[in-house]
Amino acid sequence: MTSNTRVVVIGAGLAGVRLARRLGELGTPVTLVGEEEHHPYNRVLLAEVLAGRYSPEVIALPAPAALTRSRVTGIDRDGRTVECADGSKIAYDTLVLATGSNPVLPPLRGLFTPDHVLPEGVHAFRTMDDCLGLSKAVRPGVKAVVIGGGLLGVSAARALALRGAQVMLAQQSERLMERQLDPAASQLVRRHLKDLGVEIHTECRVRDVRCVGGAVRSVEMADGYALDADLVVLACGVHPRVGLAQVAGLEVRKGIVVDDELRTSDPHIRAVGDCVQHDGTVYGLAAPALEQADVLAELLSGRADARYTGTRSLTRLTLTGQAAPHGPAPHGPFDLAAFGETEALPGDDVVQLADATRGTYRKVVVRDDRLVGGVLVGELGTVGALARAWEGAEPLPSAGRPLLHLLTNDGGS
Ligand SMILES: Cc1cc2nc3c(=O)[nH]c(=O)nc-3n(C[C@H](O)[C@H](O)[C@H](O)COP(=O)(O)OP(=O)(O)OC[C@H]3O[C@@H](n4cnc5c(N)ncnc54)[C@H](O)[C@@H]3O)c2cc1C
Repeated sequence: MTSNTRVVVIGAGLAGVRLARRLGELGTPVTLVGEEEHHPYNRVLLAEVLAGRYSPEVIALPAPAALTRSRVTGIDRDGRTVECADGSKIAYDTLVLATGSNPVLPPLRGLFTPDHVLPEGVHAFRTMDDCLGLSKAVRPGVKAVVIGGGLLGVSAARALALRGAQVMLAQQSERLMERQLDPAASQLVRRHLKDLGVEIHTECRVRDVRCVGGAVRSVEMADGYALDADLVVLACGVHPRVGLAQVAGLEVRKGIVVDDELRTSDPHIRAVGDCVQHDGTVYGLAAPALEQADVLAELLSGRADARYTGTRSLTRLTLTGQAAPHGPAPHGPFDLAAFGETEALPGDDVVQLADATRGTYRKVVVRDDRLVGGVLVGELGTVGALARAWEGAEPLPSAGRPLLHLLTNDGGS
């Protein structure tokens, strides 16, 4: 049996901090090692900081006291120690990798300077440093090009537009957030961004980033069309940060492979959050990261029967930003929630309600009397009831009327 007298967690993001806090509450001592110089924060809310709605302090996580600020550079599995960038070593009985994701840097010509740094004006959007760098560079009228129209790109474009930038969004596929939303919901997101003044280009492939004197000047498409740019945001997705695990010889496929006890191929090393692959799935979302952390905290505190068997929770994106003081007229909340399969297969039942004037849209997909997915835009009053039906995976009493009831019963809110 593993002794958990010295639990060391690498990564002070959502999963690492949650795990360390839960372990502390359950009386298991833990050392948390994080490389970012800021107080640990809720990454999901970074766009709200960029939009000027929240200060960085507002999105701080309640972090445990025992936080070591350092970057772990290697794992010695035989000696059961980790080595940090400053040369120090930390011994463990159980090591937990909670190293998160890295942004995908697309293979564009001109993206890297000869010394392998991004050109001036080009930013990823993953960390507080990225966010503060962007925040410093954005001013009303600045020309900003966001590359990528997924969850990250949409959040970044919206935040920059609220700060008064002239935003252009370049999306390779035919619609926005196609991984989470069905075409009708995508269309509403597009309309919302357009109302904020964002110019949207879909089905376009960015080929080139043009720089003068080390600073970005334009972004060029595969068809030769060029967008002037003072600022470029790379929002082309993320990939699990698996370098440490790989070098240490742990089993890594798309992510660090873990079982239902969040155990890697080394019984003394566990992993949670964006960096893991569980049952073939890499989630890259907050809810699974937190659920995995909770299960692992129980396991490491002696509840031997705790298991992680996958996440069925909603992807919720709440964009409630008001305009910054110097931005355009205030805009109300824009809430989105999506779960499961948002597009129906032949034979599925679909119930949908759309209100073009209010810009709201609600839809659920039912298969064999079970809720298999849904999407809500602009109107999230029913999200709790739907989440319970979805997460419980219980058969619905009968299709049709109860479903419509699910979509309209918003508990009076
Ligand atoms: C702008 C933005 C918006 C998002 N919006 C949503 C949303 O609406 N809904 C949603 O579900 N998800 C969203 N996400 C995704 C969500 O933030 C992640 O799923 C979540 O943060 C995963 O938590 P994690 O702890 O696994 O990784 P992270 O939060 O990335 O934390 C990993 C930490 O480990 C540190 N680290 C890595 N390697 C080392 C090392 N060798 N030594 C020391 N420290 C190390 C990193 O610096 C980082 O601080 C968003 C992400 C971003 C960037």
